[in-house]
Amino acid sequence: MRILIVEDDKDLNRQLADALVEQGYVVDRAYDGEEGHFLGDTEPYDAVILDIGLPEMDGVTVLENWRAAQRTMPVLILTARDRWSDKVAGIDAGADDYVTKPFHVEEVLARIRALIRRASGHASSELVCGPVRLDTKASKASVDGVTLKLTSHEFRLLSYLMHHMDEVVSRTELVEHMYDQDFDRDSNTIEVFVGRLRKKIGVELIETVRGLGYRMVPPAGAGTEKTGKAG
Ligand code: CA
Repeated sequence: MRILIVEDDKDLNRQLADALVEQGYVVDRAYDGEEGHFLGDTEPYDAVILDIGLPEMDGVTVLENWRAAQRTMPVLILTARDRWSDKVAGIDAGADDYVTKPFHVEEVLARIRALIRRASGHASSELVCGPVRLDTKASKASVDGVTLKLTSHEFRLLSYLMHHMDEVVSRTELVEHMYDQDFDRDSNTIEVFVGRLRKKIGVELIETVRGLGYRMVPPAGAGTEKTGKAG
């Protein structure tokens, strides 16, 4: 899952980025409204954290421009405590949620998890695909109750596939959501990661859809998170 942070306070920007990376996300960072607007307009993000008070272009304008251009990614806005009108303007501009400064980073993390979950149609913080469970709160995965040892790339891959269960996900899409903008991207490496992940969770859970990409499917008869019960 790939997140954009647009925040001109460098310390706060870094604090948020560190916490998100720690939780297994890939993060791009912008420090003013113009740069942030450009990134959100050109790169696919699973969620955006957008400060309202920004140099060059204010957060409300950034958001209005994205929404006018049909950019529908979930956006969490950060507002100053004494500026209630910013919340109203931000929500009217298309924000999905807000956090008031000062905040605890854990609250931002929880809200981001919820936004990503909702955007992909999941109600629970634990996603289930047959024997595989992904705990989005703890950023951990298990098979038959045994915690998996995953590299950060493997975790991101599993997380993206599980958030998009039963959908065909192309290699390009995986690359775009697993790496930040500065990474030297090579879609051939995706095949390698899929191979490693299959060895850890069971080959049959990740289908190759020839010419299109991959699809994570629960084994026949097993439950998924959407039903609310494990099989
Ligand atoms: Ca600011």
